[in-house]
Amino acid sequence: MSGQIEIPQHLLPGDGRFGSGPTKVRSEALESLLSVGSRYLGTSHRRPAVKDVVGRIRSGLRSLYSLPDDYEVVLGVGGATAFWDVAVFGLIEERSEHLVFGEFSGKFASSVAKAPHLLSPLIVESQPGTHPQVVTDPSVDTYAFTHNETTTGVMMPIVRPGAPGIVVVDATSAAGAMPVDTGEFDVYYFSLQKAFGSEGGLWVALMSPAALRRVEMIAVSGRYVPPFLDMTAAIENSRKDQTVNTPALATLFLMAEQVDWMIERGGLAWSVGRAGENAAAVYGWAESVPYASPFVSEQAERSPVTATIDFVGVEALELAAVLRSNGIVDVEPYRKLGRNQLRIGMWPSIPIDDIEALIGSIDYVVSALDS
Ligand SMILES: *Cc1c(COP(=O)(O)O)cnc(C)c1O
Repeated sequence: MSGQIEIPQHLLPGDGRFGSGPTKVRSEALESLLSVGSRYLGTSHRRPAVKDVVGRIRSGLRSLYSLPDDYEVVLGVGGATAFWDVAVFGLIEERSEHLVFGEFSGKFASSVAKAPHLLSPLIVESQPGTHPQVVTDPSVDTYAFTHNETTTGVMMPIVRPGAPGIVVVDATSAAGAMPVDTGEFDVYYFSLQKAFGSEGGLWVALMSPAALRRVEMIAVSGRYVPPFLDMTAAIENSRKDQTVNTPALATLFLMAEQVDWMIERGGLAWSVGRAGENAAAVYGWAESVPYASPFVSEQAERSPVTATIDFVGVEALELAAVLRSNGIVDVEPYRKLGRNQLRIGMWPSIPIDDIEALIGSIDYVVSALDS
């Protein structure tokens, strides 16, 4: 029955990609990649054609974040998941504290818990849909925060805990779309397939002098570090606009395009504003219709990039299936959360018109399913 629901053309968004990662890649960026295609793809990452793109990303991020001169932009292969292991070997001295409030924050904590060279991490957990509060502890040398927990749609403020220790922030879905004060973190790391609308496979870390000192200190301590996860090698290569091993060149290019796109339009404040406008529309709508409501009850904790919206009286999975058959993809709920909800990506790459069309399309399908 639901398979036959056809959303009228005039209600549909121009682009149907609303996933939480990978996210919509802008077609302008893709066309730009095609236009340099044969001079770029398939060429050496140790030569200017590619190193210049890495340089564009590094200087672009420096400008996007107004990074202090002594901060560095470091990158490596493997995405945020690989970076957790990089941190296990190269950033945590003895003991870390993890605020766990979803799948991703939990995964980093469990990587640490299994590392034989570290003490058991201090794990502070909260109910899904909320975030925990930091607990300072003199045994902790590294505080692990998550700016936006993509799996639950909860964001937390990035503020130093007021105790010694470096602050390491998983900003995978926040970077490029949420504001942050560079004085409040030591490492702000992320993959490129979320707000930066690029592809997977790389991690980037904005690092403070304290973080760089920590890496150096561990490097001389004699700890065994698997070469692929060696932070010092990543730092040295990044300074030369290179990576330790071969990166995905398309990922680099699409990232450079997105960073320049954000800067040209007004920088981080502009891209934060785009996501914020999208989020205001989605949450405002969810609060105004009887069949939907925001999962995150604290308004201040609602993610501006990944909205988790609960439904009543409508099967969210059925709703998502109908949307999918009409070309609106990846709004399915995060499965492990086990709620009757949709999760909607509201990235800076998505114009407000498309968000409004998505909302109109959902309303249309809900009433069609009801009749
Ligand atoms: C997507 C995501 C990750 C995982 O990124 P990968 O590039 O797949 O390793 C980690 N943390 C957060 C917060 C994410 O949103």
